[in-house]
Amino acid sequence: MTQSTPDDVKNRYLSVRHAVQRAARDADRAEADVTLVVVSKTFGPEDIEPVLLSGHRIFGENRVQESQGKWPELKARFPDVELHLIGPLQSNKAKEAIALFDVIETVDRPSIAEALSKELKKTDRRPKLYVQINTGEEPQKAGVAPKEADDFLKRCHSEWGLEISGLMCIPPVDEPPSPHFALLRKIAERNGLKILSMGMSSDFEAAIQLGATHVRIGSAIFGHRG
Ligand SMILES: *Cc1c(COP(=O)(O)O)cnc(C)c1O
Repeated sequence: MTQSTPDDVKNRYLSVRHAVQRAARDADRAEADVTLVVVSKTFGPEDIEPVLLSGHRIFGENRVQESQGKWPELKARFPDVELHLIGPLQSNKAKEAIALFDVIETVDRPSIAEALSKELKKTDRRPKLYVQINTGEEPQKAGVAPKEADDFLKRCHSEWGLEISGLMCIPPVDEPPSPHFALLRKIAERNGLKILSMGMSSDFEAAIQLGATHVRIGSAIFGHRG
């Protein structure tokens, strides 16, 4: 399935990591303040392994079922892996998501908040939770509308007893991303949230400039998804 050799993947990982660090310095921020989430969706263990062997441990996946197929084995070999769910979650997958993921970045509606709340009562696992904001208000895209964000965040706490640690967004593909990053930061600031998951292969420098604490990068490391 892959057309990259392990060395290709490793070298691209190292150069992306370097570029993320450089972007942090250029923005007068500490390198440690920006976390690289390597997005491995659609790629198999043979592609992920060179990144793990380079010492990286933080990965993002967008489907629960696909992740269940490849990550339990990798987590057994590399127990300190931190796995982020960055794709839409269905209520009936809440239990599985809590079992496998260390961070769920896509809390985006009452039914999901309720399902997570219910499942968290039955387990000791405590994945960190971010709320996804649909900054572009795109009808086809997941996420809470910006004007509903404050209310939803309050309800997460008061109604479902969820502790939310950050926000995440995916700007519209056909617009400059910076206004979306700035909007996400504004919503986070007025709600006292410190974590901002924003920026992908094509726009992570701008995101870091605007305060991203987590950038999610896939194709710049693994190549194009087939
Ligand atoms: C696929 C994906 C990414 C990574 O995108 P690239 O352009 O491949 O870096 C980041 N965030 C989310 C939510 C994604 O689904």
